[in-house]
Amino acid sequence: MSKCRWLRWAGGGIAGLCLLLFAVAPRPARPAVPARPVRQEEAGGLSGRVILVDAGHGGDDGGARARDSGLWEKEINLLVAQALREELEESGASVIMSREGDMQYSAKKREDLTARLDLARQHGADMVVSIHMNEYRTRRESGPQVFYREGQENSRLLAGAIQAALIRTLHPVRERSAMAGDYFILSLDVPSVLVECGFLSNAAEEARLLTPDYRRQVAQAIRDGIQEYFLLAPEHTPQAAPAS
Ligand SMILES: [Zn+2]
Repeated sequence: MSKCRWLRWAGGGIAGLCLLLFAVAPRPARPAVPARPVRQEEAGGLSGRVILVDAGHGGDDGGARARDSGLWEKEINLLVAQALREELEESGASVIMSREGDMQYSAKKREDLTARLDLARQHGADMVVSIHMNEYRTRRESGPQVFYREGQENSRLLAGAIQAALIRTLHPVRERSAMAGDYFILSLDVPSVLVECGFLSNAAEEARLLTPDYRRQVAQAIRDGIQEYFLLAPEHTPQAAPAS
């Protein structure tokens, strides 16, 4: 069973799994993405942008477990997050990592996630990108999928741009759409997305995610999507007053 359920709103009373979310989430995003890829020179840099990169889970919370290798999701999340940090920093962004190693801020999941969001607040992050791996009971499901919070227009735009870049770069067998999802890590008033990079329950996708080259491609695609987002939403302003 995936520990991803802990990402959902505490107190919601729903023992839902993040792996279930892809099946039951509401309408897919209709990303307003360019019909063609945005070239690097057009995309411009990320200079001046502050981005929180959250490697999901950590410490006692391993997340999902890879079916063949037995690795925990938290380990692969961190490797992808580190690759993403490198890509973003090369593009000029200032990156805040929610964790650098195998740790958690609190054994209580809500407190752990709140501490990660506090980091984003303290550093005045423009954006939150949370990295996860999916799983499902059958081995057939595959493909990366990006989640955003319903009603957050800039987050929907960001999710659509990253989803399109992941498909363009990784050529997944199953091309998923970005979707709304009720995850606590997406609760700030800045554009926020949760990226399920692939299914650890799918043999082929797990094998790919265990190679540095593939993780680099995932990171580059997320970086490309972020750059495109800033082109699509140049006004880029916080969307709403922070929840009290
Ligand atoms: Zn997860």
